[in-house]
Amino acid sequence: MTLFTIKRNLESRMLGNSHVRFGVGGGVQLPALHHGTNDPTAHAEIVAIRRASAKLGRFDLSDCTLYSTCEPCPMCLSAIHRAGIRTLYFGADRHDAAGGGFDDEFIYQLMEGTADSPLLRPVIVDREECADLFNEWNAKSDRTMY
Ligand SMILES: [Zn+2]
Repeated sequence: MTLFTIKRNLESRMLGNSHVRFGVGGGVQLPALHHGTNDPTAHAEIVAIRRASAKLGRFDLSDCTLYSTCEPCPMCLSAIHRAGIRTLYFGADRHDAAGGGFDDEFIYQLMEGTADSPLLRPVIVDREECADLFNEWNAKSDRTMY
């Protein structure tokens, strides 16, 4: 079964300006579409990871496989790594997505350190006090790593 066939079987479709993708987790098919909410983080991969984590009751999704009709954007790729997902199938690549108006090249450049954001100006404040929260975290005997 191809990604396109799975997508068609799930009756995926373009919803307004939303980019439609889906994921599968833990042996249970969990279709996840970008639902057209105003949540800029509600990409289908993120929705699929949230649903799979809730369904399976754990952070670790290393035994899950994620299928997407498009190469995950940098945010979703980070979430996929955070979830420990080891197998990812995707169809269209980032260049195809850029052609559809979903160009993340600037984000890739930010991550590589080859560009500066004209919109975001990070300001570090209270670093020592905030960093001390990690000491509290490390001292906890009942912490759950994720
Ligand atoms: Zn994404």
